[in-house]
Amino acid sequence: MRTFWEPEPLVWARTEGCHVWDAEGRAYLDLYAGFAVANVGYCHPRVTEAIREQAGVMTHCPSAAPSELRAELYERLLAIAPPSLDRVLLAVTGAMANETAVQLARAATGRRNVITFSGAYPGRTVGAARYAGRHAYREQLGVAAEAHFVPYPDPYRSPWARGGDPGATSLALVEHALTDPASGVEPPACVLVEPIQGNAGVVVPPAGFLAGLRELCDRTGTPLVFDEIQCGFGRSGRMWASEHEAVVPDLMTVGKGIGGGLALAAVLGRSELMTTWQPDAVSSTFLANALNAAAGCAALDVLREDGLVARSERLGEHVLERLRSMLAEHPAVGEVRGRGLFVGLELVRDRTSQEPDAELAGRVQTALREQGVLVGRGGRYGNVLILAPPLVIDEAALDDGLDTVAAELS
Ligand code: PLP
Repeated sequence: MRTFWEPEPLVWARTEGCHVWDAEGRAYLDLYAGFAVANVGYCHPRVTEAIREQAGVMTHCPSAAPSELRAELYERLLAIAPPSLDRVLLAVTGAMANETAVQLARAATGRRNVITFSGAYPGRTVGAARYAGRHAYREQLGVAAEAHFVPYPDPYRSPWARGGDPGATSLALVEHALTDPASGVEPPACVLVEPIQGNAGVVVPPAGFLAGLRELCDRTGTPLVFDEIQCGFGRSGRMWASEHEAVVPDLMTVGKGIGGGLALAAVLGRSELMTTWQPDAVSSTFLANALNAAAGCAALDVLREDGLVARSERLGEHVLERLRSMLAEHPAVGEVRGRGLFVGLELVRDRTSQEPDAELAGRVQTALREQGVLVGRGGRYGNVLILAPPLVIDEAALDDGLDTVAAELS
């Protein structure tokens, strides 16, 4: 099989629940849910049935045309949104949702700049890469940043002296950028932040950080945008990761799992920010394509009715406990962290120097795949193994997977 880009030797042929089969019929336990997408599991019977049924009725209707199906999707999204977010704009991908959110904030404020954070992954379109916290993404695309980057408060890899308070320091820098007339920072249209950074290695910010951003944004009249594309939809053991801190943004982007495996994303927001802008200024022919909308409605029902958010919280605690006890003495495991079924293992050459070990992470990821277990890899240095399994994963399969991960590391 030849394509222009072949980063992965595994040829995906079939998926079900928490498993993937390759072209030779070999099964893999997927502890990464296909890049944190299969929250309700692969080919969930109710999602598959909804797609089948919809395929016999209508597979496409133009994005500007009203449809009952889209209305149902709006209703379901608003039912799980924080109460003050009462409008929806649909998107096809997470990158498009983030671009849309930033454009909404720009239209509402008349400003252009974005304050965001090192390590942020908003997506890789030309628009989204402009506020990505990794310059390599822009270099690949040949675009310039349109953002001011503040260090994300990473408790393990704080850019400030160890022992300091990374949350308070990040907040002080955001405050400086927002309020000091001589900061040199163009007043921003919004502050855009992942409540838990995913691709940066499942970085959970210190308690009070999101609330501090909320306070600064309120004080300065700056819209606060949460990117919940990876950490949301039950992944962190709450419907939205920001619920851990009881902080509600002005705009929130969602994607990945909400389509039940099909391409679906959205911006949820407060009316006053959602109505100053031409709603079709960013659009796509396949915005909420009928099949994707039907799959999304079914996935939203499954998540709620099957209690998958509580399951993510319960199993997540189990994963952290088990990994921490199995790897407590392991010299290459700098930290095991996360929330819900969203867990990062930070691999280092030495626990004292904390020097990242990307090479080990790559080797372990490959060896695990050879043993039939798929895990993700991320982190600012590529040295973090990421576990984000389907929330439907059964306990026995999960424990087997964790044992394999621990054994491989040892
Ligand atoms: N935001 C976050 C936090 C993500 O993790 C991702 C994808 O990994 C995106 C945005 C981009 O989503 P998409 O790949 O659907 O464009």
